[in-house]
Amino acid sequence: DKLVYHFSEGNKDQKDLLGGKGANLAEMTRLDLPVPPGFTVTTQACRHYLEHDRLPDHLKVQVTMALRRLEDEVGRRLGDSVDPLLVSVRSGAKYSMPGMMETVLNVGLNDFSVQGLIEASGDERFVWDSYRRLIQMFGRTVLGIEGDDFARVLDAAKATKGAVDDLELDASDLRRLVEDFKAVVEAGSGRAFPQDPREQLDLAIQAVFESWNTDRARIYRRRERIPEDAGTAVNVCTMVFGNLGETSGTGVCFTRDPSTGKPGGYGDYLVNAQGEDVVSGIRNTLSLEDFAEVDPASHESLRKIMRRLETHYRDLCDIEFTVERGKLWMLQTRVGKRTAAAAFRIATQLVDEQLITMDEALERVGGAQLAQLMFPQFDPDSERTPFTRGMPASPGAAVGKVVFDSATALAWTAAGEPVVLLRKETNPEDLEGMIAATGILTCRGGKTSHAAVVARGMGKTAVCGAESLHIDEEQALAHADGVEVRQGDLLSIDGSTGEVFIGRLPVVASPVVTYLEEGLEPALEVADEGTADLIRAVDRLLTHADSVRTMEVRANADTGKDALRARRMGAQGIGLCRTEHMFLGERRVLIERVILAASSAERAEALAALLPPQREDFDELLTAMDGLPTTIRLLDPPLHEFLPDRSELMVKVARAEEQGVVDDEDVRLLAAVNRLHESNPMLGLRGVRLGLTVPGLFAGQIRAVAEAAARRIRGGHDPRPEIMVPLVGSLMELHLVREEAARILAEVAEAEGVALDIPIGTMIELPRAALTAFRIAEEADFFSFGTNDLTQTTWGFSRDDVEAAFFAAYLEKGVFTVSPFETLDEAGVGRLVDVATQEGRRTRPGLKAGVCGEHGGDPESIHFFHRVGLDYVSCSPFRVPVARLEAGRAVL
Ligand code: ADP
Ligand code: MG
Ligand code: MG
Repeated sequence: DKLVYHFSEGNKDQKDLLGGKGANLAEMTRLDLPVPPGFTVTTQACRHYLEHDRLPDHLKVQVTMALRRLEDEVGRRLGDSVDPLLVSVRSGAKYSMPGMMETVLNVGLNDFSVQGLIEASGDERFVWDSYRRLIQMFGRTVLGIEGDDFARVLDAAKATKGAVDDLELDASDLRRLVEDFKAVVEAGSGRAFPQDPREQLDLAIQAVFESWNTDRARIYRRRERIPEDAGTAVNVCTMVFGNLGETSGTGVCFTRDPSTGKPGGYGDYLVNAQGEDVVSGIRNTLSLEDFAEVDPASHESLRKIMRRLETHYRDLCDIEFTVERGKLWMLQTRVGKRTAAAAFRIATQLVDEQLITMDEALERVGGAQLAQLMFPQFDPDSERTPFTRGMPASPGAAVGKVVFDSATALAWTAAGEPVVLLRKETNPEDLEGMIAATGILTCRGGKTSHAAVVARGMGKTAVCGAESLHIDEEQALAHADGVEVRQGDLLSIDGSTGEVFIGRLPVVASPVVTYLEEGLEPALEVADEGTADLIRAVDRLLTHADSVRTMEVRANADTGKDALRARRMGAQGIGLCRTEHMFLGERRVLIERVILAASSAERAEALAALLPPQREDFDELLTAMDGLPTTIRLLDPPLHEFLPDRSELMVKVARAEEQGVVDDEDVRLLAAVNRLHESNPMLGLRGVRLGLTVPGLFAGQIRAVAEAAARRIRGGHDPRPEIMVPLVGSLMELHLVREEAARILAEVAEAEGVALDIPIGTMIELPRAALTAFRIAEEADFFSFGTNDLTQTTWGFSRDDVEAAFFAAYLEKGVFTVSPFETLDEAGVGRLVDVATQEGRRTRPGLKAGVCGEHGGDPESIHFFHRVGLDYVSCSPFRVPVARLEAGRAVL
């Protein structure tokens, strides 16, 4: 097997094999961009190593061959004593995992090659600095020595010298530091720092493989749903030096602003620096504009390459580069991560630049991003006490209690307290705290810092590089411009403006919601330029999604008010109106009377009293949805939900008995509650079972629907109610309800003098219903998959109980990658949906089938429903735009 590829042998489509970094280094090499030569060890080699715990022999042979080829190409030898070749050994998996795995720079330096490099570069300080960096990085990542052990020695060296900055250490200081670092290595690992360059290389490759399995890499993969078994590639790349004085430097840039989507390059540059100095936010950086001032020629080369890459990838690119004595080198590129707003804006910008089609633009945005844009924002008119201000690194409005470390962030969040995490800068060790926090605030680093990149990737609010902010972790306090906050104080963080405020700011609807609810013009009127551009982008992409999608989008709404909102958001009907709310509030007494009725006459009277208010509710709903299908589900929950709490009532009655003041009504009520008590109400007397057991209950609801519809027809309107029977498991159940319904509909039609054509369908939410769908379809005008209940009944667990009980453990152990209540379990529940749809349609060709569970608004599930051939998805009004977008994307 070929386990090693020269950069000139691969291309960007080989991410599986070469990892993202390797594939793109190869692509840039093919484009003749200035990439330092090198080679990539494949992910397959990594998987082999992780499985067998040693580098395969034929890998060593292939590395030798690639290394010799590289040496011939650059005319230098790894670790030679004259003009040595040095390499970096860099991780790079298929999916970007920023900073989660290891990279070792300056491999090949030893006590001999140091001299060779001093001669070649003529810069002694630089060489000793590079050597001490190698020992430090190698010691940490390969030999497992604590970073702090090196940091202490470095701090001591600085203290002796009275230096604040690393840059104040001169060549002889650094030379001494190298000896001290070697001692740290010996003490920490029991072995001397390896002098053999090839041994350094092999051990570094191995260490990069190992870094696939560090805790933080695992946590990141779980959170980002990256497969556990993919493994990382290793890139061995000729070193170029950004730390060769004032004409050298290193930087990171984006071809457009990744947080707002504003066109034009965006980046950070650091003079006389190497490697991670930029992203770690250790020193404050120069902007691209400043870079253009200090090194116009390199800046111009970079600008051209940025344009070239954008044209080639036809997307926003994220770039790492280094300037060595005035010569620009490209060290990495990839299609860059971006915020939701940037995704929408950039996609439409690229359409306007005719680099991509509208279909491609739609593929580049997602429902989850749209949902993020719909989150509330801080009310611009509210009173506010500014605390500090930094880079708007990742948008959102986050309010939480101040914490200064990951552990507290985790503990407080677990206890239900939202927190904002304050750090000088973040590093991968902070990952869990960042996941837990609702917002992140750092003192150092820009939009390209670790904190910013990770936060944007997670869609988490972040403000970075707040220069006036000073953090004292030990005292658990921070201050900015004379104002102090302590652990536990509330802060409000605006990731869109970079502002941070004391206390809790009120929030208002996002401008995207204003657009969705009120339309384009009113929303544009109040928007600034960037926001207006965003709103137009959302509008164009949603409109395009509407034009390509084949599934309808309906909403789950119970009231006229919700239905109207859903309709404004683009709902094409109501997929589920839950009628139970019609029995709450003041009407609860009436339903109590139905349940407690001593005679059928008494029950009939109570039911009759329930008719007018229900009819009114249906009228309101049908008015809101005039001309659109409106699916009304008959009563589903068990009756005891409408009665007082059993134990409270028992206590009340017992106490009353003690005092000899018994209330007959209470005693009767308690008897009824006891009679209706169930150990598993979820599996008990509910849905159609209730309808067939309590005479007149469903009949009353059906009559109310029919009368409301008939009266609207008479008023010249176009009501389209559909009646849906819940929890059907057998054809006979549906048949009985249908018979009764037919009788009532005929009666009402006759009495009101109109024709009533109201479809009667069923929920499919029991496995038995799905498996006998070919029979049930005989009597069902439509199917609606209640995937919440179908998930419960298929897995045999109750959502109300199990989520807290063991879902966390199941996610941890990998039984689930995601809760089956969030994203449809395709293999199990999805199979039932598929089977029922196909077999139902065999009995009744063209049978309308939709879904009305939570999954109707979940992007991944929507794609599945499209593949299965459902006619519509129905979701909460707020998810309707998300579903429209995803139903469109599902077609592509
Ligand atoms: P990450 O995936 O964490 O970004 P990289 O492999 O890109 O890790 O390495 C981190 C940094 O090290 C890069 O941004 C770059 O500045 C520096 N680096 C890597 N390889 C080289 C090289 N061959 N020459 C100079 N600097 C390098
Ligand atoms: Mg990198
Ligand atoms: Mg249900």
